Amino acid sequence: MNKEDFPILNKNIFGKPLIYLDNAATSQKPKKVIEAMTSFYENDNANVHRGIHTLSEKSTVKFEKAHETVAKFIWAEKEEIIFTSGATESLNMIARMLEEDINEGDEIVLSVMEHHSNLIPWQELARRKNAVLKFIPVDENYGLAIDQVDKLITEKTKIVAITQMSNVLGTINSITKIADIVHKVGAYLIVDAAQSVPHLKIDVKDLGCDFLAFSGHKVYGPMGTGILYGRKDLLKKLLPINFGGGMVNGVTLETAKWGDLPEKFEAGTPNVAGAIGLAVAIEYIQSIGIDVIETYCRELTNYALDKLSAIPGVKIIGPGKSLMRGPVVSFTVEGIHPHDVAEMLNKNGIAVRAGHHCAMPLLTELNLSGVTRASFSFYNTKEDVDALVNAISEVKQNVSINKEISKTTETTETIDQELYQENILDHYKNPHNKLEMIDCTVKHPELNPLCGDKIVLYLKIVDGIITDVSFQGDGCAISQASISMLTDLIKGKTLNVVKTYTEKDVYDLLGIPISHTRQKCALLSLKALRNGLTSLEEENA
Ligand code: PLP
Repeated sequence: MNKEDFPILNKNIFGKPLIYLDNAATSQKPKKVIEAMTSFYENDNANVHRGIHTLSEKSTVKFEKAHETVAKFIWAEKEEIIFTSGATESLNMIARMLEEDINEGDEIVLSVMEHHSNLIPWQELARRKNAVLKFIPVDENYGLAIDQVDKLITEKTKIVAITQMSNVLGTINSITKIADIVHKVGAYLIVDAAQSVPHLKIDVKDLGCDFLAFSGHKVYGPMGTGILYGRKDLLKKLLPINFGGGMVNGVTLETAKWGDLPEKFEAGTPNVAGAIGLAVAIEYIQSIGIDVIETYCRELTNYALDKLSAIPGVKIIGPGKSLMRGPVVSFTVEGIHPHDVAEMLNKNGIAVRAGHHCAMPLLTELNLSGVTRASFSFYNTKEDVDALVNAISEVKQNVSINKEISKTTETTETIDQELYQENILDHYKNPHNKLEMIDCTVKHPELNPLCGDKIVLYLKIVDGIITDVSFQGDGCAISQASISMLTDLIKGKTLNVVKTYTEKDVYDLLGIPISHTRQKCALLSLKALRNGLTSLEEENA
């Protein structure tokens, strides 16, 4: 639907038409949004609020109208809409705005499925104020354990901050059910709507939330834009946390009088072009109809769930189609690391994301280091899903063919032979030095936060020589081959020699061009070596 409005979707990647299935990370931008922003800079560019001249007047009117457009979209009032740089900034802001109300021993309730952006700001608030964090678990159907909500929210609860749609599982949480419980105990309800706003009709009053955060770039608007909605009566009482120009009604040398809403919370020069772009994106969505988008994406998601779950070895990590869920479909492919799956799909022109998706605690809870995620928009089609399914099936077929061969030739399963060189695959299939070392001098764990690869490096050092080396852990083909090769290289070498090894030495070992996104995988081994030796030096200092 409406694919022709998105210039980028005409691109080819590796000679194949781009199939963009990474919409949960960011959506593509319709031509209208791009043109509106260019036009602002070509015709209207001036700072808002402070100028009498014509351009400033035009810019101010457009910026204020952008507040109105966003307000109408989520059924709020203009004064309740604060422009930010994204959901992350919105959530950080509200955590600091509520700080004055939080005392030692107060409780903040979150869920296990939160994105880091709706977790770390609350961790930090709890640390600053000695408050207590509590977490609503995820049940066996990948939903919120709603029966626990009643027990977790108590008279001590001051804040409940929950995602409306999980960016990993696709689960849609019933905010209205939670809102009743939250308000009974007089706590604040904050909703992370980063994933839900592009796909669901949002009425902040119906939801019963006090604050709601979302990002402009996930809703077809520009990057660097976001919204913090706050209930007007609360915003009037709360104090600003950023100070400077544009947010005051009067200033003396000693004091300042805060401006009206929403300027009180919008200090400094705002991202006017971004706000205008976001408003145009919202008008664009409204021209299609959010209910039309919701229905279309639900059907596409159900189609994808059916097709993907029919591939042997593919496991969906998220609710089935009978449950409330959005168009975010995460999965694992037996025997293939999510990073390798994503890389193979990329070679087919298919853009998906792989890793922990900034929800590390959820992945830990599910006992997974990463998943591959396909996330859909209204411009995706069933043909896109078919292409995804075919590409995964091909990869799986390779694996099973190789498994058959392995029965007779003693080799183990392989991943795409065309993608990685044979020596990388050899080290991945049969890693060297992969075992625990008990009597080691150094034991150093290292993590690649991008994809969840985890290794532990063991070194035995005698008289400045690495007499033995081994590692444990799992990861993608690149990171496993890299650590396997590096351990071979450093065995028997002096520390003085080993310390001279650089990134280039690791790339030379691997022998293939390493794309920017895979550099962290490739260099995890070197990072473990360097940090392990540094911690040994610190211990001995
Ligand atoms: N919350 C959720 C559920 C998300 O999926 C994301 C981004 O993926 C965020 C918050 C943070 O959004 P941003 O990086 O645009 O600030």
